[in-house]
Amino acid sequence: MNKSEPLGRWTKEKSEELYGIKNWGAGYFSISDGGEVLVNPQKDNSQAAVSLMDIISGVKERGLDMPVLLRFENLLDSQISYLNNSFRRAMKKLGYRGEYRGVYPIKVNQQQQVVEEVTKFGQRYHHGLEVGSKPELVAALSQMQDKEACLICNGYKDEEFIDLGLFAVKMGFKCFFVIEMPGELDLVIARSKILGVKPNIGIRIKLSAKAGGHWTESGGDRSIFGLRVSQLIEMVDTLRERDMLDCLKLLHYHLGSQIPNIRDIRSAVLEATRVYAELVSEGAPMGYLDLGGGLAVDYDGSNTNYTNSRNYSVEEYCSDIVEAVMTTLDASSTAHPILITESGRVVVAYYSVLLFNVLDVEKFELYDIPDILPPDTAEQVRNLQDVLKNLSHKNLQECYNDALYYRDEIRDMFKHGRITLRERAFAEKIFWNTIHQIAKEKKKLKHFPLDLEDIESAIADIYYCNFSVFQSIPDSWAIDQLFPIMPLHRLLELPKRNAVIADITCDCDGKIDKFIDLHDVRNTLPLHEMKDGDDYYLGIFLVGAYQETLGDLHNLFGDTNVVSVRISDEGHYDLVREIQGDSVADVLTYVEYDPKVMQNNFRETAEEAIREGRITVGDRREIMVAYDNGLRGYTYFER
Ligand SMILES: *Cc1c(COP(=O)(O)O)cnc(C)c1O
Repeated sequence: MNKSEPLGRWTKEKSEELYGIKNWGAGYFSISDGGEVLVNPQKDNSQAAVSLMDIISGVKERGLDMPVLLRFENLLDSQISYLNNSFRRAMKKLGYRGEYRGVYPIKVNQQQQVVEEVTKFGQRYHHGLEVGSKPELVAALSQMQDKEACLICNGYKDEEFIDLGLFAVKMGFKCFFVIEMPGELDLVIARSKILGVKPNIGIRIKLSAKAGGHWTESGGDRSIFGLRVSQLIEMVDTLRERDMLDCLKLLHYHLGSQIPNIRDIRSAVLEATRVYAELVSEGAPMGYLDLGGGLAVDYDGSNTNYTNSRNYSVEEYCSDIVEAVMTTLDASSTAHPILITESGRVVVAYYSVLLFNVLDVEKFELYDIPDILPPDTAEQVRNLQDVLKNLSHKNLQECYNDALYYRDEIRDMFKHGRITLRERAFAEKIFWNTIHQIAKEKKKLKHFPLDLEDIESAIADIYYCNFSVFQSIPDSWAIDQLFPIMPLHRLLELPKRNAVIADITCDCDGKIDKFIDLHDVRNTLPLHEMKDGDDYYLGIFLVGAYQETLGDLHNLFGDTNVVSVRISDEGHYDLVREIQGDSVADVLTYVEYDPKVMQNNFRETAEEAIREGRITVGDRREIMVAYDNGLRGYTYFER
């Protein structure tokens, strides 16, 4: 038994529970008997598991520095299979007389590798693509080959966009124009006449059903996208007048991303299916019902209707949808359509993991305070010490108020020259010991004062980590999204420190101080004590959806190194692709610097320093080498 852990050994099971890896890991992530995080694309075959620490060694041997974004191609494959098989099973079980054809919305992760892998692997299920802009359509057409898969065109469409889509139809693709605005239809009709191609038309509707969650403004009556029912009817009339009602084949809605509550999903499906049935009875051929995105990822593993979670499984999602569509359509004897969903988040979230090392720690520890204060100690400082001495779980709020009061008085006295800097520093030590003690006593209480809710983070250690929140997990900063974060190793050791995470931008928003928890949100993350000279690695998981292209160049930290990994059935890994992160010169070019001009300018500055006798010619040479190395280097902290 480890001497420092007298209450029994810390085990991998305890780590599993503490970090919730079984809840959010979806069977893909687990902990090895040696206490390291494993990734396994094949949930049922433990042979295929690989330790992330092994991959880090492999990456480092190849000369790539942290932070590194790992992309697991097999996880993408597994999620596509999982989604398609879940729909197929639900349809078979319930006797649905139609098919499922998923499409991957490119905006969720537009990286070429992702779109290539989705179309390549998705071919066996005829999994298609959804595009929301001209660039996305251009990208999609470069990757798509499967003529059975759907290509759904949402978003605003200009003439170029429409022409390209019509040519795709001519080439045999199942390409649909989804009309989002009443005005778009005229242009589609005009261009199709000119090019002599019959378009496949879909209509996006606004539902009255509303959903909870972060991103739900895109659904509901007030949504900026889609047609109201009155506009929908007008459109049907227009198509009939132009003798083109036979082009209307698809109905679409999108409630928003990450819908945590299955009830909201169900009521939207019911409403949309009713609209679908009415369009069929209006005489449109239809055949496709596109339910948009919304299938959520359980980031905190709590399986609840909390924003970062979902209160349903993928299987339940599929069977609820299939059942709702069937029940509604069977009532009016309407044929079952091909069901489309545009799930992106659930397809790619698991695929990427951000790995980084801890650079430094600011520890928060109790100060040594003598019991008897020196005779000349100020009254206010003595009062502060009395607060600490009398503190118990029964008077926490009172002690907290008093501690703040005396601390402020002491600060005032300092401002007016009545105590020295040294005395003030001493008083602040007593103050922080008091806060520490309050946090400790708070644990004994079931209900505690609201003021003390966040007190743990005030006394947490700060772990300074080699990454940028703004570049790699922008949603953590922008909308307080939670991602699972945990150490990648040492998971057989008790994590004794409570920490918040700071990134290496010098921005006070570049931090993480909210963490996943089964019942609540944690203010601190339990981490291990740093050992001198040893690297300590953390991972942020489930970052494959939306994070990569929303990231920005805050403080000029650029793209991280990216490594694509493929894991074999026997648990070997191949690094199939490496993309070097941005160099300093790269990011400077993005903001319109020219590295050549910069070198020249700096060379001239150095030359002038020679003329002024500050440096020698030899110095200049060394200085220029250092400058060039700086330009070529990785934007993150290099060892
Ligand atoms: C963003 C978006 C999606 C993706 O939805 P997720 O729930 O995040 O997978 C699907 N369809 C449309 C129209 C979108 O705008």
